[in-house]
Parts: sequence; structure tokens; C-alpha cells
Amino acid sequence: MLPAPAEAAAPRITVARGRTRLVLPLGRGIAWRLTALGDPPRLVLDLPGQAWSGPARLRGAGLIAEARRQGSGASLQLVLLLAGPVAAPRVTARAGQLTIELAAGPVAGFARMADGRLLAAAPPPPAALPLVVLDAGHGGRDPGTIGARGTLEKRITLAAALELKRRLEAGGRCRVALTRGRDVFIPLGDRIDLARRRQAALFLSLHADSAPGARGASVYTLSETASDAMSAALARRENLADRAGGLRLPSVPPEVGRILLSLIRQETRVGSDRLARLAVASLQGEVPLLPNTHRRAGFVVLKAPDVPAALVEMGFLSNPQDEAALNRPAHRARIATALAEAVHGFLGAQAGAVARMG
Ligand SMILES: [Zn+2]
Repeated sequence: MLPAPAEAAAPRITVARGRTRLVLPLGRGIAWRLTALGDPPRLVLDLPGQAWSGPARLRGAGLIAEARRQGSGASLQLVLLLAGPVAAPRVTARAGQLTIELAAGPVAGFARMADGRLLAAAPPPPAALPLVVLDAGHGGRDPGTIGARGTLEKRITLAAALELKRRLEAGGRCRVALTRGRDVFIPLGDRIDLARRRQAALFLSLHADSAPGARGASVYTLSETASDAMSAALARRENLADRAGGLRLPSVPPEVGRILLSLIRQETRVGSDRLARLAVASLQGEVPLLPNTHRRAGFVVLKAPDVPAALVEMGFLSNPQDEAALNRPAHRARIATALAEAVHGFLGAQAGAVARMG
């Protein structure tokens, strides 16, 4: 009897000689990537676009306690909850199937691996893909806001940035660079420089600050004059992270430089506004939003004259409900999914614009 098509893509888990193998039939052209996370120890296999209607949970064996399917379509993931720490997995992909082979490993080794870094992936996308720079706010000696229950903003922003990076890379439509991938202090100016030096298509800064009485997510773009007093206060606080946010301008006569810069800025502003609108539209209905969700203020980190940029306040750590939500991986995953959709929408529109010009 032929197996039903719905079962064709369900994984198989087998154990032999101390090794646990997971074999997964893989659809044609599916871009997969494997990362490890701790607490609880697990491997996450992103499989955007994989057709899969098998069971959502699969009982594990050996080193895999359970396999769970999460999300769908462009954000489909297979999560392997581990029975214990494993060594770096051996991954082979060929002839429509992916094999992940696991052996037990030391706790310390797994801890080093389990920071969301890429363990294995389908062949990398070509360098011609647009670059998205994700900026996890604060870091190192600058914790950002500290929530009422002690949540550090710098940890929330990093967790969200790593999640968004995984989703974008799994989508295979852009390359992603992080201004920081760990708990380290990076001056605001260096964050902008990275995006400019690498000619990023867009720059998205992630934060979760505090403001009296405020709740919900909001999206900011640059403006010399703030749209309201709260936005002005937020920008003032963010800009205190350091005072060296100076821009390097091209070496042309001052007159020419001014005109050039104003033209570039105008175009960048249009792009930033579009990015912010897309982000608000995607977040709508997914997470609580601050009224007048798109706001403007003079955030230093948004001041690259030539890179469209927006800053997302994912919520306010000064609000107990927001703080609790932002501590939940599932909530951050919803934010990441929404922002990935916004980024894809932005990049799609850019590609359209280029095609029309050509
Ligand atoms: Zn912040």
C-alpha cells in the first residue's frame, strides 16, 4: 500500500549504537537551517515552505525526547526537545531527505553551541541578496531599561533579534547581520556605521523601554522634531547610551554635500516611513499596540542618511503585562513573525521599484 501523501513529510527517529538519527523527507528547494537553543535544550530546524500535514507532535527516542512542529508556511519549524546535551550534530542532506545524527556530548559544549548560532544549513543564498541589519538595543554595561520585575531590556532585545534573524534567514530572501549577537556594548555610531559600510537595504532597531502609563508596541522613524512628548523622552534616553553618534559624510565641497545629503535623506525618509507602516500593519492584531503606533523622534541610531531605518519598541518593560509578555518566547516569536513579514514586504517593494526603473 502506498503511504498517504500527508505522511510523506513526517520525520522518523531511530536509535542505533548510542546515536539518534532523525530522517526527514525534504521538499524540493526547501531552505533549511539548524540552530541550537538552551533552557530547555533543543534543536530548531527551520523549514520555510515545507509541505507537512503529519502529526504536530512525535514521540522521541534516544537523545530526542520529543519532536514538535511549530508555525506553518514561511515560519514552519521542527523543534527537537533533547533528552540531554548533545555534541555538534552531523547533518546530511541529499536526494530529498535530511538526516540529523546526534550523539551525547558535554554540557559545556552544548551550552556554547546553544546561542542560536547556525549549526548547519542549506547552501547559503547568493551575496546579491539584500542585507538586513538587525540592531538589538543596548548590551554589555548598558542594560537599557530594567523592568519592574527585573527584566533587562538588553536581554529581551537580543532574544528578539536572534529570533527575527533566524526567521529572515529561513525565508531565504535576504542576508542578515546583527549589530551584536551577544551581551556586549556597541556604541550607537558603530551600529549605524555597520549598516552604512555594508550598504544595508534596511536597519531595524529593537527595544523595549519604559514610559509612564504606556503599553503596547510602537514603531519610530527619525525626525528632528518629536511627534509627542513621550517619543521625545524615549529618544533622549536612547541617545544617552553614548554621545558619539557622528556621521561620516562623503568628502565633497560643503555646498554639494548639503544638496546631495538632502536628496539622499529625502529618499531614505520615504523608505523609512514605508518600513514603519509595514511593521505597524504586520504587528496589528498580533500584539497590543500603543495608540498612534507610528511615531517620530530624533533617535541617533536612526540617523544614517542613506539607510532606511525604523526602531521598534516591542512593548514597555515599565508595564507589568508587557514585561511578562516580552519574557515569553511565544510572544517574541509572534513579534518576529510580524516583523519578518514587514521586512519581506519592504524588500519586495524595493525589488519592484528597481525592476520598474530598469
Ligand atoms: Zn532601548
